[in-house]
Amino acid sequence: MRTRNPIREIVDTMRLQGSADKPVIPLSIGDPTVFGNLPFSESVSNAVISAVKGGESNGYVPAVGIEATRAAIAERFSRDGAELTAQDVVLASGASGALDLALCALCSSERNDNILLPSPGFSLYSTLCERYGVEIRKYPLVPEQDWNVDVAAMEALIDENTRAILVNNPSNPCGSVYSAEHLREILAVAEKHCLPIITDEIYADMVFSGETFVPMASLTSEVPILSVGGLAKQFLVPGWRMGWVLIHDRHGRFAEVRAALAKLATLILGPNSLCQAAIPEIFSETEPEFYAELNATLERHTKLLVDRIAAIPGLTPIVPKGAMYLMIKVDIAKFRNINNDVDFARRLLNEQFVFVLPGKCFGADNFFRVVTCPPPEKLAEACDRIAAFCSDNYIA
Ligand SMILES: *Cc1c(COP(=O)(O)O)cnc(C)c1O
Repeated sequence: MRTRNPIREIVDTMRLQGSADKPVIPLSIGDPTVFGNLPFSESVSNAVISAVKGGESNGYVPAVGIEATRAAIAERFSRDGAELTAQDVVLASGASGALDLALCALCSSERNDNILLPSPGFSLYSTLCERYGVEIRKYPLVPEQDWNVDVAAMEALIDENTRAILVNNPSNPCGSVYSAEHLREILAVAEKHCLPIITDEIYADMVFSGETFVPMASLTSEVPILSVGGLAKQFLVPGWRMGWVLIHDRHGRFAEVRAALAKLATLILGPNSLCQAAIPEIFSETEPEFYAELNATLERHTKLLVDRIAAIPGLTPIVPKGAMYLMIKVDIAKFRNINNDVDFARRLLNEQFVFVLPGKCFGADNFFRVVTCPPPEKLAEACDRIAAFCSDNYIA
């Protein structure tokens, strides 16, 4: 009864039906495979095919994951000063499963624990915390400052029952990418209050030209960090449910957390063995061009959306620097008979058959989120329809 999905609760009240000449354009689901337009790497299919044919990965594997796979992940995500070994990697059922492990290992409902979560933020964080009876304290991200954390507001939420700060970079739903300098400001707060960090880096390296993704753990030797990642987004295989927790702990502060993660991993016995076995080859055989092309495509799509939406009176896109989302601010008072972002999204769906997620799904009132993955012609048509909807309902 404590397990709620806030997106479903909002979206299930919407009627998802297009018209004969206007099928619904779904800009709602954060699944890059929906339209089939983003080419995935052949290295990915080859690796899993050889795992199947090899016949050596059909048995039970260690609950924390196959040793060679953990080693390959450790090697890929090691940075100078933040080196990892296979012992620092725990495999999980998607980044979602990894977040579940990390939260469960750090927080307990039996001590009035609380955790700091980003707002707006990915709704699974709240779902997991509510399920575990962990109090949620939301720290604000500031749209006018590239969605940076209001660090003073974050610090003011901390008390003796705070167990961790969760940071999502690059961000879903914001598309923000934090600078090293900003990450250091957050780390300084964590260090001052002796708090560990859970960082959701599922969009690692999915950044646009001129931007750099900085892994949070590469900036600190003091603050212990559980970094969550996975194959879902960058390798375009969310259905594979392949994720991991990286344990960054320079001073042995996470000894018990490490043991907890290993015990929790025995509940599910890790992700599918074939997908696990494919990872070393996926990492070694995927050409750099694959990542570059995906980022360039998402950047082009994002620019198309930002340019078109910026020209629509009443809407303000907040320009993303990475990931695959765009947040758009709605000047609600300027729209006739629309009281909030849920109204806006519902009416847009009913009148123009464009499906966007209201900001309420992420704790961002008067915003809506669009996914940037669909093909450009779909995005352009969606923009035309959004413009028509706005001009029909705008109070000049
Ligand atoms: C998609 C997403 C996840 C979940 O990834 P899975 O590997 O599919 O479970 C986690 N965090 C964020 C921010 C996401 O957008």
